[in-house]
Amino acid sequence: MRLNEYYEKQELTISFEIFPPKTEDGLRQLEARLSRLIELNPSFISVTYGAMGSTRSRTLEIASKIRREYGMETAHHLTCVGANRHEIQKVLEEIRAAGIENIVALRGDPPKGETKFQAPKDGYSYAVELVEHIRNFGGFGIAVAGYPEKHIEASDFETDLYYLKDKADAGADVIITQLFYDNSYFYRFVERCRAIGIRQPIVPGLLPILNVQQIRRITSMCGSSIPDSLQNELQAVENDEPKVMQVGIRHITRQVQDLLEQGVPGVHFYVLNRFFHIAEIMAELGFTVRKPQPAEAHPEL
Ligand code: FAD
Repeated sequence: MRLNEYYEKQELTISFEIFPPKTEDGLRQLEARLSRLIELNPSFISVTYGAMGSTRSRTLEIASKIRREYGMETAHHLTCVGANRHEIQKVLEEIRAAGIENIVALRGDPPKGETKFQAPKDGYSYAVELVEHIRNFGGFGIAVAGYPEKHIEASDFETDLYYLKDKADAGADVIITQLFYDNSYFYRFVERCRAIGIRQPIVPGLLPILNVQQIRRITSMCGSSIPDSLQNELQAVENDEPKVMQVGIRHITRQVQDLLEQGVPGVHFYVLNRFFHIAEIMAELGFTVRKPQPAEAHPEL
């Protein structure tokens, strides 16, 4: 089923995003957790492509497996990094041959140590070009990224929004946002998008808090802010992982409750290949899921 069909339905679409681990060990752990994540009954699972140092080669393998073995819909992320048009065409053919119907189309980040993204020879500079390529190829639902606190490289919020509109006009079906911890940024973003004529569903992307250092690192890398109240709460329990987890679960649960009250079409959780936090959040929200057992509160889960 394609992404546009999910968000056209008058039902809430919950999606999870996972990443392909680099090691065999990581892969085994993910496999063990996948069935648990699927028990939580998301509408689809998306699999990143080379994000945050993860590997690109396993995205197709993992996305196909989710489809084949669990019968669950997937979205394959794809970036403009390190591939020319011909190579992108080949990857699209492989994705189609695996029966995957959805793509999250991204530019990708500059390689480690570089601050500016350089288009590969005969490749693309911006996600909009990838969206055009995928649209011409045909047959895929397409999601693109949006930034409630603006993209970190963008000179200003409004310019970034106009580039987002280009992606929407080029054929994106849905916009999934970068993570944020303060809903007011999301509401302002949606309002501004609508004001400039972006009509696509806009889905908030949320990252459950696993530990304080990690959340500080990720937010500073992607330019999202942590509100003072949350900073203070986290700081007070910084070295006590179970308490950090509880603060995080409480915060995200409140965020989602508020977003649902405002009528968002879906929620996209960056689950970071973990099960416990997201299971707790889903249970707190009252979704009919199996409540995780205390034994599953292990940091490795
Ligand atoms: P673009 O939309 O191309 O924008 C990049 C920058 O260029 C922005 O500052 C924009 O304002 C500017 N810009 C856009 N068009 C133009 C133009 N025509 N002229 C001048 N400037 C322009 N990364 C991965 O590597 N793999 C993943 O799997 C992955 N998944 C993601 C999933 C989601 C939901 C999100 C939100 C991000 C994800 N990322 C992933 C991160 C993403 O690749 C980075 O944020 C990247 O820096 C920008 O990608 P983009 O698609 O938003 O780029």
